[in-house]
Amino acid sequence: MFEDELDEFTRKHLRRQLKTVNSATAPTITIDGKPVIQLASNNYLGLANHPEVKEAAIQTIQHYGVGSGASRLISGTQTPHHGLETALAHFKATEAALTFGTGYSANTGIIPTLVGSQDLILADRLCHASLIDGCRISQATLRVFHHNDTTHLKQLLEKRSGAQKTLIITEGVFSMDGDIPPLPEIVNLASDFQATLLVDDAHGTGIMGKHGRGIVEHFEIDPNVLIQMGTLSKALGTIGGYVVGSRSLIDYLINTSRSFIYTTAPPSSMAAAAQAAINIIQSDPDRRTRLWQNRDQLYQGLKAMGFQLTNTQSPILPIILSDPQLAVSMSTRLLEHGIYIPAIRPPTVPKGTSRLRLTVTSEHTSAQIETALTALDLIRKELGVKG
Ligand SMILES: *Cc1c(COP(=O)(O)O)cnc(C)c1O
Repeated sequence: MFEDELDEFTRKHLRRQLKTVNSATAPTITIDGKPVIQLASNNYLGLANHPEVKEAAIQTIQHYGVGSGASRLISGTQTPHHGLETALAHFKATEAALTFGTGYSANTGIIPTLVGSQDLILADRLCHASLIDGCRISQATLRVFHHNDTTHLKQLLEKRSGAQKTLIITEGVFSMDGDIPPLPEIVNLASDFQATLLVDDAHGTGIMGKHGRGIVEHFEIDPNVLIQMGTLSKALGTIGGYVVGSRSLIDYLINTSRSFIYTTAPPSSMAAAAQAAINIIQSDPDRRTRLWQNRDQLYQGLKAMGFQLTNTQSPILPIILSDPQLAVSMSTRLLEHGIYIPAIRPPTVPKGTSRLRLTVTSEHTSAQIETALTALDLIRKELGVKG
C-alpha cells in the first residue's frame, strides 16, 4: 500500500527515519548507549534541563497533577497558565499574551482569525510549515514574496485589488537559514499599506535583543505595531506556543481561535516551567553571552574551512550541500565520529538546498565545538566537499 511511495523516498535519498535518544537534549546526547556531541537542538540556553526549570515543573505536578482535565474555556485554565501569560506579556512588553499547546497549533489557530477567504496574505518564501498551514486553513489568497525581499513585497502590496484586507507574515529568525528579516522596512510597508504584520519569533525569543526579548527588541521596534507569536519549545526549553499583543487581540483569539478553543489545556507544569525559563532569561544574561561566544567560535571555524554558509545572524548555522545524498552521508559519517548533526532535505527546505543544520547552545564547551570542527574538516576532505 505505502511501500511504493516509501521506495520512491528512499530512491531520492529523501526517506526520513526516527532516531531514538536515551538522554536529555543538547549539548550532549546518548544514541544507542553511545554519548555524542549534539549540534541539533533548539535548546539554545540549556533551559530544557536547567534545575530550576525542572523543579518548577515537578512542584507544579505535585500540586496540580499531570493533565489539565479540559480545554482552557471549560475548566482547564489553572493558575500557572495565568502566571505564564502575565510573564510573557511583561517580557514582550505587550498588554497581554495567550498560550497554545504548541507553536504549530498557535499558527494554525491565529492566522484564520486574522484573515478569511476574501483577504490576502503575503508571506516570506521561507516561512515555516505551520505558518503555511495556518494560511491554507484561513482560505485567504496566499502570495509568497522572495526571501527577505522588501522590493518584491512592496510590488505585491501595490498590485493588490482595492481595499483587500492584507496580512504580512515573516519570521524573527528563519528556522532553516538562521538569517533575519529587514523587519523595520517591513513594519513601514505594513503601515503604509494598512496591512497587519505577524512575526513568528520562534527562534528569536530568548536569544535576540539586548535582554533576549526577541527580534522586536533586536530592532528596537514598538511591539504595538505588530502581532508576535513564538514557541516555548526552543530557547525556553519547554513546550507550547504563544501570541502577544493588545488585550483586545487576546480576547478576540480566546473567542475565535479554534486551536485554542477545541483542545485540552497544556499541562500547567509546562506553563510553570516556561515561566521559570523566562525568569532565568531575565536574571542570567551570561547564558546569552556564552551562546554568542560559542556561536562565533563555530561560525568562524566553518567559515575558515570554506563551507557554503547562509547569511546567518543566529546560532543556526547551515552548511549548504545541495545534494541530499551528500548531506546524509556527511551526517552519517559525523555520527560515527561522535557528532550528531542532522541532514535537512526537501520538503523542509527548497529543492537543491539540502544541508547540514548546526545549532549551538550556551552549554557546549569550547572543546566540544573544536572536536566537532575537526571531525567536519576530516569528513569534508574524505567526501570531497568543495569549499
Ligand atoms: C519550531 C517552529 C514552530 C513550531 O513550534 P512548536 O512549538 O515546535 O510546534 C513554528 N514556527 C517556527 C518558525 C518554528 O521554527
